[in-house]
Amino acid sequence: MIRINNILDAVARNNPNADPDIIDRAYVYSARVHSGQMRLSGEPYLSHPLEVAGILAELKLDSSSVAAGLLHDVIEDTHASAEEIEDMFGPQVLHIVLGVTKISKLPFNSKAIQHAENIRKMILAMADDLRVILIKLADRLHNMRTLKYHKSDKKKRAIAQETLDIYAPIAARLGIYWIKKELEDIAFRYLLPDEYASIKESVDREQEEREQDIEKIKNEINVAMTANGIEGEVLGRYKHYFSIYRKMQEQELAYQDVYDVIAFRIILDAKTCCYEVLGIIHSLWNPIDIKFKDYIARPKPNGYQSLHTTVIGSDGARVEIQIRTREMDQVAKSGVAAHWGYKEGQTVDENTSTKFAWIQELVENQANFNDPDEFLENLRIDLFPDEVCLFTPRGEVKTLPKGATPVDFAYLIHSDVGHQCTGAKVNGRIVPLQYQIKNGDVVAILTTKNHKPSKDWLSFVKTVKARNRIRQWIRAEDKERSVNLGREMCEKEFRKHNLNFGKLLKSDKMAQFVEQSAFQSADDLIASIGYGKYTPRKLVHQFIDKPEPEEDHESILEKLITRVKKKKAKASVIVKGIDDMLIRFGKCCEPLPGDPITGYITRGFGVTVHRKTCINALKMNPERRIEVAWSLETVDAETYPVKIRVRSKDRSGLLRDTAASISKSDSNILNVHSDTYAHNNTVDSHFTISVKNINHLQKIIMSLKRVKGIKTVHRIDR
Ligand code: MN
Repeated sequence: MIRINNILDAVARNNPNADPDIIDRAYVYSARVHSGQMRLSGEPYLSHPLEVAGILAELKLDSSSVAAGLLHDVIEDTHASAEEIEDMFGPQVLHIVLGVTKISKLPFNSKAIQHAENIRKMILAMADDLRVILIKLADRLHNMRTLKYHKSDKKKRAIAQETLDIYAPIAARLGIYWIKKELEDIAFRYLLPDEYASIKESVDREQEEREQDIEKIKNEINVAMTANGIEGEVLGRYKHYFSIYRKMQEQELAYQDVYDVIAFRIILDAKTCCYEVLGIIHSLWNPIDIKFKDYIARPKPNGYQSLHTTVIGSDGARVEIQIRTREMDQVAKSGVAAHWGYKEGQTVDENTSTKFAWIQELVENQANFNDPDEFLENLRIDLFPDEVCLFTPRGEVKTLPKGATPVDFAYLIHSDVGHQCTGAKVNGRIVPLQYQIKNGDVVAILTTKNHKPSKDWLSFVKTVKARNRIRQWIRAEDKERSVNLGREMCEKEFRKHNLNFGKLLKSDKMAQFVEQSAFQSADDLIASIGYGKYTPRKLVHQFIDKPEPEEDHESILEKLITRVKKKKAKASVIVKGIDDMLIRFGKCCEPLPGDPITGYITRGFGVTVHRKTCINALKMNPERRIEVAWSLETVDAETYPVKIRVRSKDRSGLLRDTAASISKSDSNILNVHSDTYAHNNTVDSHFTISVKNINHLQKIIMSLKRVKGIKTVHRIDR
């Protein structure tokens, strides 16, 4: 069993400036809080944190990491508190310990193993400090080394499978191949004990012989390269048990056919040297044609580059050789090549692979950091700055863009779940729909049947899918409402002519009319009527023989005025929550920009806008009231008719002076009539004038009041 002094020695060897004190104190503290606890092996529990710290020292990590390794289980398994750890070891160590604890508590279930890629991502995303992952790997490595003490075979297999699916690939991705290989071999042993035993036996039997072979072949290659004036590094290695097994499986070979159990790698400085060395190798030994692969000319989809060849060596054994440049080797080792994206059958994006190459370099070169602060700074990571990983209540992992909300998640599940989403529970607590999901959150969506999406959601959703689905829904809803409205209007209009709109709708004549019109369909036509873009009156005349009746003067004028108003209204009033709504102004109160206003949903005429003080508005059915507002883009050039009553003492020239005042205030008189009361020599003049907005009106009234003889000026509602 490793002792604390071994660890302190290893740390001092790797970094003479390391602080042994914090490690020592962590050891004492861990011994105290774990005291009395036992491992399944029967050893004192303390042996586990010690071994973990030993692995971390072997990885040449800094003293904070080693201390955190000694403390990695204390919050979860003992009475130790976060406050105490922070007091004694500082916020750094606490942060790492909490990170490890958080990952240990992740609610993965066996079903979730099918989504291994997501779980690996979740673990990497949750750790904002690389040391959290390294401690987790060391922890898992020691737990695997002592897996035999578990009583239940089922449990052993479950842990082994998780290690194979989750932790070995993470180790590979970080470029820590020795941990990856050891994790895989132990997992292999528990998952497939027979296959493991048979491969192990064969390899062990041949080991001595093979070792001599490696040296011999290595030597031959080196001699030939030197003779040709090429410098390079030749590495020979055994494949580990699991990779032999994988090869047997993938290529359907028996062990004795996996001759390339020894593999060589030749690392060179330049690409041209690779082909030169390939020529040298092929002149030394006979290549097996079908085994040759030029991944330099044709890189794998993930960017992996190398020459692969298998030759028949001097003694007849087949030898696998990879030839590549140092740069290509870096890319391969960053875990991108063999163990991550490629294995998942997907390409790794450039950013991610660069990031992992960088981390791997960091792990390899940590001894070169003289300044411990600089090293710590470099270990703080955010591997997936644009994404957030969450759990479904069933333990599946899902990925969303950072800042995503429960509504985004609901639409990710299904459009209907999105539409009916009324709330969410995050880690068991109700949160608002705008809540921004954090890594590791367990998110459950609450739905209510027949609930409808809100336009407000568009202001906070982050995914394109949610945005599009909400927009689609709103459009469909608007259209449906317009169709209903349009249908009602048509039915009413057709009834006036003793026609049955429902029947005619299905007639050939209607089909013909739609065909030659600009409308896509009958529904489209009816919707246009609902939107106020087309009139039912025009439509009905397609179905009666009489020409459109002559309109009297008044109704022509009325229509003209209405049309002008309509145009203005669209630009100036917003109906909250609805697009493209037909707006009319109440003739009773004639609202002006600046007046407090309210809207009323009418049957067949869109929304009518009234002043809030209008007597008709006050009588409205509150259920049909709708919030409206003046658009900020109201154009000043537009004017609105307003009625005012001017009460004056009668005199000659009064009307002329009044008109001049209105005109001077930049307004026009649209209509006027006067009543004279002889008994008190008073005139009441009712003007309809054109006004831009409420301020303009006030100015007009003020200047009217200065006209000689005018006593009062009032805006009137009707
Ligand atoms: Mn542990």
